[in-house]
Amino acid sequence: MTEIEIRCTNCNQPYPIDSVPYKCPNCGGIFDHIDGYHFDLDEIDDHAPGIWKFRMALGLSPTTPVISLGEGNTPLVWAKAFGQDIAFKLEYLNPTGSFKDRGTAVTMSFLKSRGINEAIEDSSGNAGASFAAYAARAGLKAKIYIPDYASGPKRYQMEIFGAEVTRIQGKRSATAEAVRKMADLGATYASHAYLPHGFAGFATITYEIWEQLGEAPGTVIVPVGQGSLMLGIGRGFQALKQAKVISEIPHLIGVQALACAPIWAVFTNGASGLMWTTEGETIAEGVRIYRPLRGDVVLKTVADTNGMFVAVDEKNIIAGRSELANRGFFVEPTSAIVWNAIEQVVKNVPKPIVAILTGSGFKSLN
Ligand SMILES: [Zn+2]
Repeated sequence: MTEIEIRCTNCNQPYPIDSVPYKCPNCGGIFDHIDGYHFDLDEIDDHAPGIWKFRMALGLSPTTPVISLGEGNTPLVWAKAFGQDIAFKLEYLNPTGSFKDRGTAVTMSFLKSRGINEAIEDSSGNAGASFAAYAARAGLKAKIYIPDYASGPKRYQMEIFGAEVTRIQGKRSATAEAVRKMADLGATYASHAYLPHGFAGFATITYEIWEQLGEAPGTVIVPVGQGSLMLGIGRGFQALKQAKVISEIPHLIGVQALACAPIWAVFTNGASGLMWTTEGETIAEGVRIYRPLRGDVVLKTVADTNGMFVAVDEKNIIAGRSELANRGFFVEPTSAIVWNAIEQVVKNVPKPIVAILTGSGFKSLN
């Protein structure tokens, strides 16, 4: 079990050992893991549940308590798509209905190791629902700030888990502003976007895929908003390669909704792509991130694998949801964007192809 060092990506300041800042107190920069994850076949604990069998690769100290709801160990199910057999990783079967639980389990365990009993978070979606559940599990008081327009099953999840939900009028950015103000006043801001701890949780998806396939896939298709899932997946395959478990890292394909596709735009057109990126409305609300915090790192993660980004329009997102449902997969629109991505790349990428189905259809009942 190896604790992975965290430092400011701007000024190299180590993460403090006695507090939980969401950004560097020294320069305002973003914290990240500075080393790769430590994967070791001999350290897999087959008796531990879900992601915890890979505890050696989670970057936590040996004394960190385990806050778990049984996340991980999701099925890998094959189905035909565009004449090919595609493996679908059913992340929507995690405890709160999304892949976020893998990251939240790690972050919440870290918070408890630091003696935190109350924390704030801002999310209108799956991250907030997951945070509320794990806070309930950990006995931590969760205060979640959401945009006033946010509604539906995800908000219901936050409330039923007992989180104190505060609605903020105005745009998404007004919510972020409100939560930063609280953080400046001394609240612990357990941001799923700023804190890097959860990435090591997302990486466990790759260890499971490797176990389930018995080999590395040729290609992995991943929805990208902030890109935290893509970062975790990239780093997970790196760890497997470092441990000589696999010899090649799969091509990683990032998928964005065309209405709001900043990383795809830069990948396709260079920096000028940002000039015409829009924060348009999309039914794939979970990937509607106009300015991803670590967009440059996400882009490099994909480019380094000879991968690419693709964008999917609204018509094809909705059609994708139906096609997936026709095969028995009940996912939210944010997950359904992978269907058209498969169609766009299937002829030109290495096989086998794995597509990540990130969130449950119960999240979006319209
Ligand atoms: Zn710094």
